[in-house]
Amino acid sequence: MMQNFVFHNPTKVVFGQDTIQQLDQLIPTNARVLVLLGGQSAKTNGTLDLVRQALGNRQVSEFNGIEPNPTYETLMEAVAQVKREQIDYLLAVGGGSVIDGTKFVAAAAVFDGDPWDILTSWGKAVTRALPLGVVLTLPATGSETNCNAVVTRRATHSKRPFNSPHVYAQFAVLDPTRTYTLPKRQIANGLADAFVHIIEQYLTYPVQAMAQDRFAEGLLQTLIELAPGALADQPDYQQRANLMWTASLALNGLLATGVPQDWATHMIGHELTARYGIDHARTLAMVLPALMQVQRHTKHAKLLQYAERVWHITTGDDAERIDEAIARTRQFFESLGIGTTLRDYDLDERAIDEVVAQLIQHGMVALGEHQDITPDVSRRILSLALGAANQAA
Ligand code: NAP
Ligand code: FE
Repeated sequence: MMQNFVFHNPTKVVFGQDTIQQLDQLIPTNARVLVLLGGQSAKTNGTLDLVRQALGNRQVSEFNGIEPNPTYETLMEAVAQVKREQIDYLLAVGGGSVIDGTKFVAAAAVFDGDPWDILTSWGKAVTRALPLGVVLTLPATGSETNCNAVVTRRATHSKRPFNSPHVYAQFAVLDPTRTYTLPKRQIANGLADAFVHIIEQYLTYPVQAMAQDRFAEGLLQTLIELAPGALADQPDYQQRANLMWTASLALNGLLATGVPQDWATHMIGHELTARYGIDHARTLAMVLPALMQVQRHTKHAKLLQYAERVWHITTGDDAERIDEAIARTRQFFESLGIGTTLRDYDLDERAIDEVVAQLIQHGMVALGEHQDITPDVSRRILSLALGAANQAA
């Protein structure tokens, strides 16, 4: 049966070419704004200039250097700047890392106590946050229209998620032309991350959530259809516009309404990133096919539905259809140039022990829609994800 839910997504989406100009109407004129940035991309491709122009005469300062997989250590430097300069509005200009980092800064800057508790409480300790807005430059995470964030503590290799309704962006500006400078690797990552976000909310057990299922299947098919063109050498507006909006819709809360959710692929993937620095999306591509295989009995009905409705697999018995759907999922990631085994990233059996130890240390011991992914099950998933030894060469 469909579960009870509250759906409330307060983020205003401003979509299309030249929409950065609208920052002038979106941010109060008397705001003291801190623009938060990643490494170099927004500076070298002109996005930061457009933002500065749109902000006009407002008091604006910048915080540079939020790294991919943003760290607590770096973000606490931004918190110090916010306090020092009495900032009252945050503007994230970048991809998921800059947006997630900005959400953490928004909560930490007004937090009573040790800000690390924001993460150990999964966000429950957050009671308020500074207002924030987003200019998105990388379609992938959906962070621009959700209230989640993931922060890594460098010192302990801990990559921890939190969520809080207080950290929704007030607005998200999505200009597809701002993605034109993305390297193919990041486009591929974005396609894979969005794909797995949809799967985590869809591939569980059936609760007769008809619209959510059809919506998820439509978004998965859209990503599959977009992939070849999105990876072409010349960026195309229609392709980027569709990719940008699909990745947002994948994780804006709508698919999650009334349905069970998995998220084990993400939690295991986070440990792989925290330990070995592998791109977020690539960790998901390693874990998901193996997780589908290990959980094929508890996910049986949805795997068959996925096989038929997403991949149009209509022949063979149930087991064959499920095998084929898992194979197609793996091929999809590989078609993006993304390796799907631990050995593709030069990891061996030792990684299995290390990742399982981290899962235990971080309390990730009952994952998945049935909370039945214990450390032993995670070990089976990682063992299956290892790949054949002869692929190591
Ligand atoms: P990202 O880490 O934000 O960015 C990756 C790289 O892309 C950076 O090196 C960045 O360079 C570059 N880049 C960004 N925009 C660009 C552009 N327009 N042109 C050229 N280069 C550009 O990547 P992401 O995949 O969006 O975010 C990953 C993070 O989000 C992970 O920490 C992951 O765990 C998290 N995540 C969050 C959610 C959520 O719901 N909140 C969901 C899934 C994943 P510069 O640094 O030079 O700008
Ligand atoms: Fe993700």
